Amino acid sequence: MSIRPLVIIPDSKLRLVSEPITDISSEIRRLADDMLETMYDAPGVGLAAIQIGVPVRMVTMDVSKSDDERQPMVLINPEITWASEEKRVYEEGCLSIPEYYEEVERPDRVRFRFMNLQGETIEQDADGLLATCVQHEIDHLNGVLFIDYLSKLKRDRVMTKFKKAAKREAGA
Ligand SMILES: [Zn+2]
Repeated sequence: MSIRPLVIIPDSKLRLVSEPITDISSEIRRLADDMLETMYDAPGVGLAAIQIGVPVRMVTMDVSKSDDERQPMVLINPEITWASEEKRVYEEGCLSIPEYYEEVERPDRVRFRFMNLQGETIEQDADGLLATCVQHEIDHLNGVLFIDYLSKLKRDRVMTKFKKAAKREAGA
């Protein structure tokens, strides 16, 4: 297992639509391990493969609060199959947009379907942090970021800040 570098905005890779996984190969298993390790190291509650530069439809999550009882989830080809009409506002952050947090409104509860590393199809209901997290991560697979839900003014402000930082780094 290894910790991989995170892809940060404004990197255009984050706008790619990731490809479905057709075969749970040893390469995919290794990628899942690396994603979990990278996510725990960050630390974060969710990570999509594209956030370490691999455009495949896989997500890792762990919304358990404690370090002693890790509950790692690996979601292959996840999709939302139902979303509640009721919405909920939650303050979100993203490992690809470090140290930036904003309130985002999303469906309060969702049902989602995915394949696990054993190749089993699972359908699960989610509310609370898990519901927010799974919607945020599936968005990544479609090239969508949580800042897309903010006003243009806020989005432009955060993009400008990270573009400047990227330029500074390139010039250094
Ligand atoms: Zn994110």
